[in-house]
Amino acid sequence: MTDLTQGAGQHAQVAGGHRHADERLVPLEEVQELVIRRSRRLGLVELPLGEAAGAVLAEDIVVEEPIPPFANTAMDGYAVRSADTIGAPVVLRVVGMLPAGSPPPEAPLGAGEAIQIMTGAPMPPGADAIAIVERTELLGEGSIRVLDQVPVAANVRPAGSDYAAGSVAIRSGVVLQPAHLGILSSVGRSSVRVWRRPVVGVMSTGDELVEPGLPLAPGQIRDSNRVTLCALVRASGFPALDLGTVRDTEAAVEEALTRALGACDVVLSSGGVSNGEFDFVKVVLDRLATVAGEDGESFELAVAIRPAKPLAMAWLPRPGGAEGDHRAPPVAFFGLPGNPVSAVVSYLMVALPALRAMAGHADPLPRRLPAVVGEGGLTPSRDGRLNLLRVEIAVAAGSPGTAPGASGRLVARSAGGQSSHQLSGLASANGLALVPSGDPFAEGAEVD
Ligand code: AMP
Ligand code: MG
Repeated sequence: MTDLTQGAGQHAQVAGGHRHADERLVPLEEVQELVIRRSRRLGLVELPLGEAAGAVLAEDIVVEEPIPPFANTAMDGYAVRSADTIGAPVVLRVVGMLPAGSPPPEAPLGAGEAIQIMTGAPMPPGADAIAIVERTELLGEGSIRVLDQVPVAANVRPAGSDYAAGSVAIRSGVVLQPAHLGILSSVGRSSVRVWRRPVVGVMSTGDELVEPGLPLAPGQIRDSNRVTLCALVRASGFPALDLGTVRDTEAAVEEALTRALGACDVVLSSGGVSNGEFDFVKVVLDRLATVAGEDGESFELAVAIRPAKPLAMAWLPRPGGAEGDHRAPPVAFFGLPGNPVSAVVSYLMVALPALRAMAGHADPLPRRLPAVVGEGGLTPSRDGRLNLLRVEIAVAAGSPGTAPGASGRLVARSAGGQSSHQLSGLASANGLALVPSGDPFAEGAEVD
């Protein structure tokens, strides 16, 4: 049996480039492994914080100054000496006011004194606790009554209580979430070193396709894949480039793919990868790989999944031939199938892991969670392929209609029509159930 992951030597090879055409059904894991192995990181960039959400951090963030940088009050109220509140209620003399953003007074707080203080303002010297405003009474003539005894350190946020000086706040490799950007700003950064994310070109192929919004002639349909894939790419955290629709001629496909090679790090096309008379994507990718010689590689696969069996892939060197170019990772091409659900499933299971690996994610594959099958069961095909059924996943509340014993677990039930042209089922789905070919999974069965 041919092992696709072992490199070019064992495959049909055309002069120069490597062409891999695998007639057997290739298991999904094998395809994913192959793709991840070829997906090299793109290199490092310094991004302004405002553009860094979702990027993978490429440096350790060391805290130089403590955060918070000074002890400050967590509440609006009065900075006091805790000892003065013993035996509360007690009356204290208000000697000043300290809003957030003001420097602390130089003179230490004396016995029997209090300073009115607002959340975030620095602790005045001599004060060791905050009496919250809600538990004080204003007496006039610059005095307050503190109703309760206030223990030392009450409502005080010590310097360094979030991050101590010298600590590592964020480790290299972390996917930057919004809160990480807040930390970066807090430590004084306005930009950050991350792995560059691939620019992803998206094109549709097909003579039957009409732009959204335009009327249909007999036999035509509207192009739904391009807008869907562009949105998916962006929702996955990558910039998408709309490359338009391409006609079903070899020349048009070659022209479009060649042009995309110069503009993108990854190219996604949909349609034209099965065995129809006008399916030119594989042919063209093969030829481009051949022309590229040793640096080019193309694959023509039947993946053992349903939907999304046909798949073309290629890795082609960047055009230009400039000095550093051979070190730049090649451009990855994914010829996704044309059926709308197939295109999306193929993107999620094969292309997205590649994008994530190129962007520096340590864990590029889709997340797998155990669930139980919900009402109605899940019925796979019996064609030897892994069925990726569109499901609605919810946390079982133990209400009628959830599987027995499923309370608190994830329950996956069919999201509707499971044919590869049915966007209806896909639109209702928030997950894919991995159901091997064979007998139906009954309600209550375990499923990933
Ligand atoms: P193909 O892979 O080109 O043979 O296309 C398979 C099916 O998907 C056919 O029914 C096509 O009309 C349909 N299809 C291909 N591309 C698109 C698209 N961009 N939007 C909607 N349907 C498409
Ligand atoms: Mg087509």
